[in-house]
Amino acid sequence: MNSRPTATPETAAPAAAAPDGTGKTARLIAILRDACPEQQALLDAFAPVLCLRETALAEEAARRAAAPAASPEAGTADAPSAGKGGLDVGCAARWAEPLLDALKQGFPAVAPAWEHLREAIRADAALPAYLCLARRGRKRPALSTWSKERRLPADAVNLFAEQLARLAGAAAQLGLPEQESGDATCPYCGGRAEISLIHGTEGRRYLQCGHCSRLWRFKRTLCPHCGAEGNGILRHIFVDGQPDLRAVVCETCRHYILEADLRPRDMPLEIGHVLSLVMGHLDVLAQEDGASPLSLARPAAARAVSAAEETVH
Ligand SMILES: [Zn+2]
Ligand SMILES: [Zn+2]
Repeated sequence: MNSRPTATPETAAPAAAAPDGTGKTARLIAILRDACPEQQALLDAFAPVLCLRETALAEEAARRAAAPAASPEAGTADAPSAGKGGLDVGCAARWAEPLLDALKQGFPAVAPAWEHLREAIRADAALPAYLCLARRGRKRPALSTWSKERRLPADAVNLFAEQLARLAGAAAQLGLPEQESGDATCPYCGGRAEISLIHGTEGRRYLQCGHCSRLWRFKRTLCPHCGAEGNGILRHIFVDGQPDLRAVVCETCRHYILEADLRPRDMPLEIGHVLSLVMGHLDVLAQEDGASPLSLARPAAARAVSAAEETVH
């Protein structure tokens, strides 16, 4: 399975309920609705969550600017090693309930689950941080066990934890200067790249982190997992008529990454974190082809050095 949310779009609110705000995220969603009309139900379901993310990150940035001496609470709970796994757990606590409101709007069919989670969070202030860390595979019990013990649907808990972890991950990296990476490991938080983006007149390639959404430049012809390069190494899998949205499979290591060439549809670089939502069908095609998602693979270099690394779900 990939790391994208697993709740079904059938539970989505009708299109009319989607927010039509004037924010940047709403414009990005409108662009995608036009580009991928078959994904409108999914986009409508996620619209409230994505728009909340924009609001939350703006407020977190303002909060940071207002108190520059206060460092983000990144990773204080588990003190991850430097440069790895940054999560702003204070942000997670502040936005957990608003996120549940947004999920209830987008996924009303599981409204009781959101309310149970709300009660659980009010009863345990440390719960948002736990859910984020458990989603990243760094806290036991695993989310599936935790959900089962509370008789909550694991899909809903996973969706909430994933969206909260993405928000807390993005907040932890706010304002960090640009950095580089030679592979699919995020130079900001140590997460894994989940999408590759081709942008600009020169067709520059960027990788985007699935944990914190930061971007970094990457060579067009290189496999981000194993570093293989050369003619015929990277193969594109796409749906007829949509070669700009594809899975790029490395024939050497058989890992793939989703990739969007933003130029034909004139899409902005900021659309990456929204785009990955509508590319799930390419995950299916690549996995039917026998390839494994790079976003879930352990870094090739780290695997060679240490066999004892923690599992990332
Ligand atoms: Zn990252
Ligand atoms: Zn490879």
